[in-house]
Amino acid sequence: MNIFENISLKKYNTFGINVNARFLVEISSKLELINFLQLKEFSFFKKIIIGGGSNILLTKNFDGVVIKINISGMNVIEEDNDFVIIEAGAGVIWDELVSFCVDKNYGGVENLSFIPGTCGAAPMQNIGAYGQEIKDSFYSLEGITIDRGESKTFFNDQCHFGYRDSIFKNDLKNKFIITSIKLKLKKNPIVNFSYSSIKSELEKKKILNPTIKEIRKIIYGIRMSKLPDPAKIGNAGSFFKNPIITKDKLLQLQKIFPGIIFYPADENKIKLAAGWLIEQCGWKGKKIGNVGVHSEQALVLVNYGNASGDEILNLSAEIKKSVKDNFGVELKEEINIFY
Ligand code: FAD
Ligand code: NAP
Repeated sequence: MNIFENISLKKYNTFGINVNARFLVEISSKLELINFLQLKEFSFFKKIIIGGGSNILLTKNFDGVVIKINISGMNVIEEDNDFVIIEAGAGVIWDELVSFCVDKNYGGVENLSFIPGTCGAAPMQNIGAYGQEIKDSFYSLEGITIDRGESKTFFNDQCHFGYRDSIFKNDLKNKFIITSIKLKLKKNPIVNFSYSSIKSELEKKKILNPTIKEIRKIIYGIRMSKLPDPAKIGNAGSFFKNPIITKDKLLQLQKIFPGIIFYPADENKIKLAAGWLIEQCGWKGKKIGNVGVHSEQALVLVNYGNASGDEILNLSAEIKKSVKDNFGVELKEEINIFY
């Protein structure tokens, strides 16, 4: 294990916010984690967990221990004619797992191609894109409780997965460290191209029955054209979740905004496209000092240089207020803010 003291976290978060941590420990195995949690000299410090830092906003120096999970390893552990179960260490880069699966034609995560971050963080918000979520192919995960150092396993139905949500983002946030995940993938993939951006690319390319390799390639093209590369412009992907509203609320909104973009959601609810709401309020492409709203995707807030976490927070508060004032809809943050 590597332990650093008084270290800048700038390179550990894709927003590129420059705050310091009192300690940062890099963990490369489950045993190392158990041993670290037993060390008396760190037991009284607050602890936070990070993977790739692509879904966090840091707002101030942290007088505690940042636990950076680097646990590697990726193996097929079980298979039959129809399914394969793959285990990956929490520190494995998520897209390396996706790339492996797509190469082998194991279906279930191809639409989640090119999502930044680690496998350990992926169940946290039940990562999703283009109509697929990790919960659809999630089997189980293992981890350690921070307070007692106990090993626990969670199967799919114990994770309380929801829309960009899970038990790990709620009751167990900063209490449980995921050390590995298992996915159950299909050997005969069912390709999902329900999103119109994928459909139109397939039409352009005249592909009628796409393979998961073709889907991955198309998603690469769409993502490159719409999303800022965190290596060039600091960002953490979508800052807000798409709001879920009732059908009655939608009917009210449609009377005033006939063009409002919406999709059916779970349990008779409606999902509004938050990016559309923000764009209608005039934010898309706006730059204020060091921060701004991405010109191609209004859900993405960006750091143009030396922004502080507070500058991002102030911008997000203004956006929330204008969406609330104009549409009566509350935006909730998708990213994890460390105040
Ligand atoms: P971090 O940002 O390091 O951590 C996120 C949260 O998980 C924190 O609360 C942290 O404490 C916790 N955490 C991290 N590791 C562990 C662990 N091992 N055990 C317990 N808790 C842990 N997300 C999507 O869902 N869909 C997308 O399409 C998508 N596209 C993106 C595009 C861009 C350009 C960017 C920058 C982000 C995007 N994201 C997307 C958000 C982000 O990539 C995912 O949420 C990703 O899973 C975060 O992984 P990470 O390792 O960077 O997590
Ligand atoms: P998009 O395709 O322009 O769609 C805009 C919004 O409408 C999305 O948020 C999406 O909801 C919703 N949507 C579109 N078609 C839908 C359908 N057929 N059924 C249900 N909902 C539909 O979005 P985009 O910005 O280019 O992103 C494409 C995908 O990548 C989305 O799934 C998005 O979530 C994901 N993504 C996520 C992040 C992140 O940080 N979380 C960043 C970039 C992209 P959903 O978001 O619920 O899918």
